[in-house]
Amino acid sequence: MDNFVNATYIVSGLLFIFALAGLSRFETSKRGVAFGILGMVLALTATIASVISPETGEGLDSLGLILLVGAVGIGAVIGVRKALTVEMTGMPELIALLHSFVGLAAVLVGYNSWLEGSHDKFHLAEVYFGIFIGAVTFTGSIVAWGKLSERLPSRPLVLPFRHWMNLAALLLIVGMAFWFVPTRSIIPLIIMTILSLLLGIHLVAAIGGADMPVVISMLNSYSGWAAAFSGFMLGSEVLIVTGALVGASGAILSYIMCRAMNRSFISVILGGFGDSGLVACAVDQGEYREYSTAEVAAELMEARSVIIVPGYGMAVAQAQYPVAELTRALEAHHKHVRFAIHPVAGRLPGHMNVLLAEANVPYDIVLEMDEINEDFPETDVVLVIGANDTVNPSAMEPGTPISGMPVLHAWESRQVVVFKRSMNPGYAGVENPLFFKENTAMCFGDAKASVQAILASLPVGEAVRA
Ligand code: NDP
Repeated sequence: MDNFVNATYIVSGLLFIFALAGLSRFETSKRGVAFGILGMVLALTATIASVISPETGEGLDSLGLILLVGAVGIGAVIGVRKALTVEMTGMPELIALLHSFVGLAAVLVGYNSWLEGSHDKFHLAEVYFGIFIGAVTFTGSIVAWGKLSERLPSRPLVLPFRHWMNLAALLLIVGMAFWFVPTRSIIPLIIMTILSLLLGIHLVAAIGGADMPVVISMLNSYSGWAAAFSGFMLGSEVLIVTGALVGASGAILSYIMCRAMNRSFISVILGGFGDSGLVACAVDQGEYREYSTAEVAAELMEARSVIIVPGYGMAVAQAQYPVAELTRALEAHHKHVRFAIHPVAGRLPGHMNVLLAEANVPYDIVLEMDEINEDFPETDVVLVIGANDTVNPSAMEPGTPISGMPVLHAWESRQVVVFKRSMNPGYAGVENPLFFKENTAMCFGDAKASVQAILASLPVGEAVRA
C-alpha cells in the first residue's frame, strides 16, 4: 500500500507542476485546470486509501470512517454548489475565503499535533511556525474577503505607530518560540496564536487602494506555506510539495504584480509604507461632457483605430459578450480594434483576460499595458468600459493611494468615451480627472445595455459579418 500511495503522490505532484505550466498561457489554461483536477483526485484517493488501510493493518474504526466520508461529502457538496453559483465578479472574494480555510486548517492541524504530545524540538518548531503562518493567513484572508466584497471599507486603516506595532508583534512571536520549543508550554502557543490573528487583521486592514491585488496574491502564497507546514506536521509529502508549489508561485506572482504597479514588495507586505491613505481632494474639475449611445456609434464609424479598455465594471455588467460582438462588428467595418489590459484591472489577476477569453475575443488583439501604452496618441477612439483607477491620470501625481501606479494613457488618444453609471470614483476612492478632459465624453448607464444599444445603432451594411 505504501508504494502505491507514494507513487500516486509523485504523479500528483507532477500533475500539479503541469497544471501550473498550463495555467501560464491562455491557450493551454484549460488543459492546466484538467491536470490540476486529476492531480487533486489522485492525491485525495491515495490519502483516503492510506488511512483506511494503512501498512500497519490498523485501519480506521467505523467512527473514523464515518467522519472521513462525512467531511469529504459535506466539503464536496458545498464546493460544487459554490462553484456552480459563484458569479465571475464574486471569484476574488471566494478565493480570499478559501485561503482563510487553508489558514484555519493549518492552525487546527498545529494544535492537533501539539495534543499528540511529541517532545521532538524540530517538530515543535514546525507546529509553532505552522500555527503562526496559518493564523496570519486566516484573519488576513477574512479581512481581504471583507474588503473585496465591500463588507469592509477598502480604504487603508492607518493606526498610529502601525509599523512599530507590527514589528513588536513579530519580535514577540519570534521571542516566544524560545519559550515554547524547549518547554512545550501551551501559554506561549496561545499568546502567539492571538498575536498572529491580530497581526493578520492589521497587516491587511492597513493596505488599501492599488496595493490590494498584491495582498490577494500574497495571501495565496501564505496559504501555500501554511499547507506546506501542515504537510510537515502530518508527515504528508504531497501536502509539502503542493504547499511549496502554491507558496512559491504566489510569491512570484506577487513580485510580478509589485513590479507592474511600481511598488516595493516590502512596503506592500508591511502595509503601505509611505502611503498617506489620503484620497485626492475634491478639487473642482470643471464640466464633463455626455454622449448618447447613438453619438458613440457615430464616433466609432468615423474612427479608423479603436482601443477598448475593460475594467471591473465590465465584469459587473457581464458586458464581455456584447463587447466581443461590438469588436467583430467594428472589424467588419474595417476598424483596427484592440484591447488594452492593465495588470490590476478587475478584482483578480488576469480577470479581464478570463472574461474576454470566455467571450471568444481572439488572444492576438488583447494586449498588455506595456505592449499598447505607447499607441494611444495614434488612436482615434478609446472605449473605457467599466475601468476607472487603471486609467486615472492622478496616479502620475503624488499624494493619492494610487500614486506611482502605472496607468493606461487613454487621454492621449483623439477621443475617449467612458462607460459607467455615475461619476463615482473607482475601487481606490480617488477622483478621476480623465472624466473632465476636453476629449472625454461620458456614456452613462449599465455597460452591457450601453454596448448593446451602440451595436443596435451601428449601420448593418454588407461589410458586417458578425
Ligand atoms: P475600478 O474598480 O477602479 O472601477 C470600476 C468602475 O466600473 C467604477 O468606476 C464603476 O463606476 C464602474 N461600474 C461598476 N458597475 C458597472 C456597470 N454595471 N456598468 C458600467 N460601469 C460599472 O476598476 P478598474 O478595473 O479600473 O481597477 C481595478 C481596481 O481594483 C484597482 O484599484 C485595483 O488596485 C483594485 N483591485 C484589483 C485586484 C486585482 O487583482 N485585479 C484585486 C483587488 C483590488 P459606477 O459605479 O459609476 O458605475
